[in-house]
Amino acid sequence: MGSLSASYFERAQEVIPGGVNSPVRAFKSVGGSPLFIQSAKGAYLKDVDGKEYIDLIGSWGPMLFGQAHPSIENAVRQALSNGFSFGAPSYNEVLIAEKIVSMIPSIEKVRLVNSGTEATMAAIRLARAYTKRDKIIKFEGCYHGHGDSFLIAAGSGVATLGTPDSPGVTVSTAKDTLTAVYNDLASLENLFNANPNDISAVILEPVVGNMGLVIPEPGFIEGIQKLCQANGSLLIFDEVMTGFRLSSSGYQGLTHIQPDLTTLGKIIGGGLPVGAYGGKAEIMNLIAPAGPVYQAGTLSGNPLATSAGLAMLNLITENPEVYQELNKKGEFLANGIRQQLQELQIEGFVNQIGSMFTLFFTSKVVKNFSDAKTSDTAKFGVYFREMLNQGVYLPPSQFESWFLSAALDQSHLDHILQASRIALKKTLVA
Ligand SMILES: *Cc1c(COP(=O)(O)O)cnc(C)c1O
Repeated sequence: MGSLSASYFERAQEVIPGGVNSPVRAFKSVGGSPLFIQSAKGAYLKDVDGKEYIDLIGSWGPMLFGQAHPSIENAVRQALSNGFSFGAPSYNEVLIAEKIVSMIPSIEKVRLVNSGTEATMAAIRLARAYTKRDKIIKFEGCYHGHGDSFLIAAGSGVATLGTPDSPGVTVSTAKDTLTAVYNDLASLENLFNANPNDISAVILEPVVGNMGLVIPEPGFIEGIQKLCQANGSLLIFDEVMTGFRLSSSGYQGLTHIQPDLTTLGKIIGGGLPVGAYGGKAEIMNLIAPAGPVYQAGTLSGNPLATSAGLAMLNLITENPEVYQELNKKGEFLANGIRQQLQELQIEGFVNQIGSMFTLFFTSKVVKNFSDAKTSDTAKFGVYFREMLNQGVYLPPSQFESWFLSAALDQSHLDHILQASRIALKKTLVA
């Protein structure tokens, strides 16, 4: 190709497995090689070859207000001038914890970590300790980071034990993770019935972003909570993606269903590495040094990360209208693409909620992972590459959500729809 990105990628593959530090950045499922980004501002990413793209990845969620928002940039600059890691408490940790507790009603106490993966791993350890039970239930297609307990697919039947999804995850770990079908309460009830008094917690993305966007049907989440309560199991909302994206108190802010524990990440770091888990004080007080459940982190509560996160949360509380505006943009794009699908007679299905949406190349209504997997990923590849060609950077996989930011204005939205029409036409001739 002769582009700088292509030459960097070649060098990267020599020294980094697959050339990327997180597999989602690779273009394996869409074809081509990933772009190396030089800089980002507002609605745009600029690659090392100088081409600009409208950013619909938003760092996989954190960039709610667009790239490099001045408030966050200034907060980090200010923090930086005071040093950047102490290994001792700093005041920002108190401020951000107070802020999170004030924004999310189900969280009375919160512990900061460095990633979403750390948050979910700690949350299930805590749930196991609190309930004195070993097993957890997750839903097929929900992603909870790369901890061993979560890299488990469904067995052949809903009541069978999980089998590892990745080499290196032991069978004995897999046997403690059971897998239900999203939007299917009966599958969950069957697991509870087959494992009485064994389930410590049910963990889920209440709105799923990680099989492409999938939305819970009315009554589904309420039903899960009832089953958890009836069986003495904890309910864990993994809001690493949805927290502060769907509302200022996450998915739970839209429904007023309060989980026992919540995991957070992405947006609370404002683009720097932060995760968190929190919930009822009675449960959180089991965490060391208040209690016996060990969990620690050399860089947890890092002053740069907390300054970025705090600036982000302040932006949210100072601009509460942002969610309504983002929802309008989301609806505009989703409806625009639905109309294009109809006009061009292309089989496709668009799920959208707030600033998250996914175009699935399938004729199915997508309610769970099996539905999502009916998508024509080759078509998505064609669509993705043409969108990129037209200057729109989508997540490079059919099974991801697109993330809108407040930095997108009407001209950006029009550009995206224009690009989409061209890209959809490409899928017809491919
Ligand atoms: C991204 C994500 C994680 C993992 O977070 P990392 O910071 O990548 O470790 C966990 N759960 C959900 C729902 C996520 O979207």
